[in-house]
Amino acid sequence: MVRRAAAAADLGVLDAEIAECFACPRLVEWREEVARVKRAAFRDQVYWGRPIPGFGNADAEIGILGLAPAAHGGNRTGRLFTGDRSGDVLFAALHRAGLANQALSVSIDDGLELRNTRIFPAVRCAPPDNKPTPTERDTCAPWFHRELELIRPTLKVVVALGAFAWGAWWPAMSAVYKVKAPVPRPKFGHGALVSLPGVPDLLGCFHVSQQNTFTGRLTPAMLDDVFARAKSLAGLA
Ligand code: SF4
Repeated sequence: MVRRAAAAADLGVLDAEIAECFACPRLVEWREEVARVKRAAFRDQVYWGRPIPGFGNADAEIGILGLAPAAHGGNRTGRLFTGDRSGDVLFAALHRAGLANQALSVSIDDGLELRNTRIFPAVRCAPPDNKPTPTERDTCAPWFHRELELIRPTLKVVVALGAFAWGAWWPAMSAVYKVKAPVPRPKFGHGALVSLPGVPDLLGCFHVSQQNTFTGRLTPAMLDDVFARAKSLAGLA
């Protein structure tokens, strides 16, 4: 799998390779079981039930790093943050920021297009309880690292959605940019910013999970601030 990731010459090849990955037995079983059993509301739909590639521009200045696809969101529709409440919140914010052509994100063929932005998860398969194990995180890392390598020429800032994504950034940064992570590692926080020479800026943002958005821990205004800042750091505003 590491070799397949490293050999992917472009994002199209990488995306296709990712969709064929079966490296984590627990996650393969889970993604397929969810796709088989389904949620009642989606009973008539055919779930994707496979790993999820990144989504967005190959020459993105802004990267958005998430945790993993949602069982009945990305794992159902085949596109990250698509067909669930987290995506509704995220894409509405990206649309307000001018980074998406529409706020609607319901299916892979809904016409959504990103601008200057690519979204990718640290782990490509939906995990039970949204919690990949450390082994699963590390097993999946080569896909993320290769994606990062391929968009490296234009990438200026990475928005880490939540502490898991924040933590996944450091080994990726070392692997791709050959820059050692600071010790101790900078702490995740909403609005936390790490600027190191030679690597994209890292900007922390609470995850767009329902837990955060329903409770008001993360508001649309807070997301607007994050994406305005990301655009500014990326030289887009
Ligand atoms: S989580 Fe990543 S490494 Fe594991 S099966 Fe899915 S795509 Fe493959």
